[in-house]
Amino acid sequence: MLLKKATCTALVVSSMMGSACAVAAHKTTTGMEAQPGHHTEHAHWGYQGDTAPAHWSGLDDQFSLCGTGVNQSPINLTEMTSARLADIHPAYARGGTEVLNNGHTIQVNYSNGSSLDIDGKTFALKQFHFHSPSENTINGEHFPMEAHLVHAADDGSLAVVAIMFREGEFNSELEKAWAQMPQQAGEKQLLKKPVNVQALMPEDLDYYRFNGSLTTPPCSEGVRWLVLKQPVTASAQQLETFRSVMGHPNNRPVQPLNARQVYQ
Ligand SMILES: [Zn+2]
Repeated sequence: MLLKKATCTALVVSSMMGSACAVAAHKTTTGMEAQPGHHTEHAHWGYQGDTAPAHWSGLDDQFSLCGTGVNQSPINLTEMTSARLADIHPAYARGGTEVLNNGHTIQVNYSNGSSLDIDGKTFALKQFHFHSPSENTINGEHFPMEAHLVHAADDGSLAVVAIMFREGEFNSELEKAWAQMPQQAGEKQLLKKPVNVQALMPEDLDYYRFNGSLTTPPCSEGVRWLVLKQPVTASAQQLETFRSVMGHPNNRPVQPLNARQVYQ
């Protein structure tokens, strides 16, 4: 029996999507159900001190892959291998209807009806959330912020599309979520102006691709990663708004590439 005080009632799938340590509300806001055979209570984890990424694998038996996995995310994308990657054609609607602060990130939950086909399989967009600085690096460089668009297929497999943000022009689509960003962990807001993540995408959808994991406990592997090459912008103030609400960096350090290749 785990101590209530030290645990969070995170669902496996929602925690896999960066919303671990969930308040009970996550169960309904993510629209996801726990997968059979998984425990639904996990230890508290974070980005600082005793619960920082270097300690994740020791915090909970369910987090062991964070230490032993060999296909972990994020990574430094470098020495890419040329491949014939298929163009992506996202079918995203204006479905970003809720914004929540789960203490680890700011997350926008997506209603049903938006999807992306990869490898002949349809992945439904569930939510997107942010890291600052970026988690993945490109040729050793961080971007000030990275968005992760988390998709799940009917068979439970996951795909994440990453969008890099550089400092620049004010981002009016992002502002629809930022204007109602909950200041305290555990709070959520219904968005007055639903976000269309399509409007957050860069013009050019060329991407880097590799196999990876969730960047948050339980660090499950087998995640398809697509990192868009072209960054988008957010204003200096929008970047600062996110950083100040988080109160600390929320990026896991880059992990060893091991036997993987990064394709472009
Ligand atoms: Zn993430």
